[in-house]
Amino acid sequence: MSTSLLYHAFGIRGYDYVKTDYREGRVVFTIQRRPSTYRCPLCGSRRVASRGCQERTFRSVPIGGKPVLVVLPIPRVECSTCQVIRQAPLDFADPRRSYTRAFERYALELSRRMTIQDAARHLQVSWDVIKDIQKRDLQRRYRKPKLKKLKQIAIDEIAIGHGHRYLTVVLNLETGAVVFVGEGKGADALEPFWKRLRAARARVEAVATDMSPAYIQAVREHLGDAVHVFDHFHVIKLFNEKLSDFRRDLHREATDQMHKEVLKGTRWLLLKNPENLDPKKKERERLEEALRMNQPLATVYYMKEDLRQIWGQPDKATAARVLEDWIGRAEASCIKVLQKFAATLAMHRTGILAYYDCRISTGPLEGTNNKIKTMQRQAYGFRDQEFFKLKIYAIHESKYALVG
Ligand SMILES: [Zn+2]
Repeated sequence: MSTSLLYHAFGIRGYDYVKTDYREGRVVFTIQRRPSTYRCPLCGSRRVASRGCQERTFRSVPIGGKPVLVVLPIPRVECSTCQVIRQAPLDFADPRRSYTRAFERYALELSRRMTIQDAARHLQVSWDVIKDIQKRDLQRRYRKPKLKKLKQIAIDEIAIGHGHRYLTVVLNLETGAVVFVGEGKGADALEPFWKRLRAARARVEAVATDMSPAYIQAVREHLGDAVHVFDHFHVIKLFNEKLSDFRRDLHREATDQMHKEVLKGTRWLLLKNPENLDPKKKERERLEEALRMNQPLATVYYMKEDLRQIWGQPDKATAARVLEDWIGRAEASCIKVLQKFAATLAMHRTGILAYYDCRISTGPLEGTNNKIKTMQRQAYGFRDQEFFKLKIYAIHESKYALVG
């Protein structure tokens, strides 16, 4: 084999080809460093003397599907300036790895299209080797996400596994990139993010979160000048939860058997947007019957429909009128759940109407969260936390096949 093939195919330069062996289905190249290229690894001097060598083996890119091993004696050199004996440096492999950089690049390329398992099988290495290659690549790129140009963000937490573990995720709403993954939820989980944000001197203009006190407090403290928008999906979701509880209570309290029957199974119908009711299953008719038989339920249900209108107005002033009207009607309804929700809305009206200053939501985070959950169902989500988090940073690039 020629020296130029060694360089172009395997990324190895400054070595001479010695021989090729075929062992157990593998191609084994033996190469040798040209003594004229010996340098001192400390000072770079050429005035070095050879002091024995140590043989090492590296994996390199396969040929025709056959694994390729590169074997070479790594010389030890004594520098006449530094007066020490050191191993001559390698430039085609990381000193602590048993594969070449060309192999690493090839494995990363495969990782764009294949799962870790597929790439490992194809290259005939262990799952851990491919994971290690991916992890180091991810560390290079995401250990410190750039925050300087961050303008609009969404913050939300995601339950991992069976709900006892949380991650708090911050998304750059302009690029769709995850810029922070914190352990746990609430204010503590965000502390490292605020620190990095300050260090980057970022000027965040708008942030979307749910209405939880922890986020309100944290945003007030760390992003005092930013527009804080309460995400409308979360507001509607919160109302849907109240509606569900209300229906459940009515069902439990119903004494009349027929009444009970009608309420039964209406939970999903109540939560569905009316335009999604299925005519084939007569969903609209069933819902209407339940509402007819139960006036308070009907009131709460129609108030849910009206609630959505708050975010569909042409401007902030009109939206403010719609919101105040909703609050007024809820207060006058004599239905406790509505009155309580009216109080919640009144308390958060600034952040709700802030949507009209900056039309952002945590919606884009939902997609990211779903991908995180898919990833987490793969076993590696728990085996190596750092790797799992790094994978989250890489989600928007879809540089890797999602599953492991
Ligand atoms: Zn030296």
